[in-house]
Amino acid sequence: MTELPRLPVSGGCSDTPILKQRGQREVFCGLTGIIWLHRKMQDAFFLVVGSRTCAHLLQSAAGVMIFAEPRFGTAILEETDLAGLADAQDELDKVVDELLARRPDIKQLFLVGSCPSEVIKLDLSKAAERMTQRHAPSVRVLNFSGSGLETTFTQGEDACLASMVPVLPKDDQRQLLLVGALPDVVEEQAIGLLEAMGIGPIKVLPAPRATDDLGVGDGTVYALIQPFLGDTHDALTRRGARHLPAPFPFGEEGTTQWLAAIATEFGVSPELFEQVTAAPRARARKAVAQAAEVLRGKSVFFFPDSQLEIPLARFLTRECGMEAIEVGAPFIHKGIIGPDLDMLAEGPTISEGQDVDLQLDRALAARPALTVCGLGLANPLEAQGLSTKWAIELVFTPVHFYEQAGDLAGLFSRPIRRAEMLKLEAAE
Ligand code: SF4
Repeated sequence: MTELPRLPVSGGCSDTPILKQRGQREVFCGLTGIIWLHRKMQDAFFLVVGSRTCAHLLQSAAGVMIFAEPRFGTAILEETDLAGLADAQDELDKVVDELLARRPDIKQLFLVGSCPSEVIKLDLSKAAERMTQRHAPSVRVLNFSGSGLETTFTQGEDACLASMVPVLPKDDQRQLLLVGALPDVVEEQAIGLLEAMGIGPIKVLPAPRATDDLGVGDGTVYALIQPFLGDTHDALTRRGARHLPAPFPFGEEGTTQWLAAIATEFGVSPELFEQVTAAPRARARKAVAQAAEVLRGKSVFFFPDSQLEIPLARFLTRECGMEAIEVGAPFIHKGIIGPDLDMLAEGPTISEGQDVDLQLDRALAARPALTVCGLGLANPLEAQGLSTKWAIELVFTPVHFYEQAGDLAGLFSRPIRRAEMLKLEAAE
């Protein structure tokens, strides 16, 4: 390798007109993020201020932990609280006091807002300030909203991380900050590759513990690991940190481009980059090629859900040979997914937001080989004879970086393979 892989020049779908529709949406709410965040942040507790519906969502999505002390819970606001918001604040104080007295291991407490009107009327940021004063210095209390009225399910993580940025200590040392929650083993792989190139110090947001040495300032450059972190991106920029735009690390090509953007910033030589990445790149290419056999030449349609849609469409079209018909995303933040849009070949409709009935009409008319959508749409589409992939699985499954590239392609190939086998059985 004589030079580092360069970012794609502007092109592809970067200037494709975006179809924007507003109507009924079919998405999960931002409380979903608590399911993976509570595993990453070992001294945090997520207290949802919400209804019984919120409690059911969390319990069924995360499973009820019988032996372990959970790191999330729901303070249920009854309808009677509508009459007295002052009482609701007192109630909340009481719940938090009891929780913190019982659980001295909690160092960060997140008050998480939800949809019910009585919760929306509660000022949770004031409550968090009041509680921080009361429980400092041992506990930091922050708040964010996971309400389904204003969020898609991945925005919960964004809102949570963005709430942490203003309270991070100032630290102007030159450092790389990786932003986004990943399974530990995948995070270790990414850090291992970067450290092998001599890049450091490397910090991660969210850090596993509030006491971890994590600050931000003018010397910080940051790379996003997930494309749904728009508010966190803005909050970090306000703190003086600088974003390194890059395609997201999905598949061999995305991972290589993402690493190369960081390597360029830190002056890594092309020889060292090649030495560190050659073997895992080859493994990733081989694994993707095997899983992609069944994907080649097949069409895919993305409903807006996880905000991973554009980077995944780039991966499926360029590395797996699929043809994208429509790539719908809840929001399109070109400052974040611009490099992926540049690499996505012209052709698909790019849509932002949703009018679900109109979009269903387009999908049913196109009859794609695979439709990536939320849980609520999957069964009705399957009933119409379409193969589907639940978008939420893409967030719950380790899919980033080289070693997971084959698994990522496999997530898309399995439903198509299953549909082909069912067709064969029906024909026999
Ligand atoms: S936050 Fe809203 S959408 Fe989410 S579970 Fe609670 S009530 Fe339902």
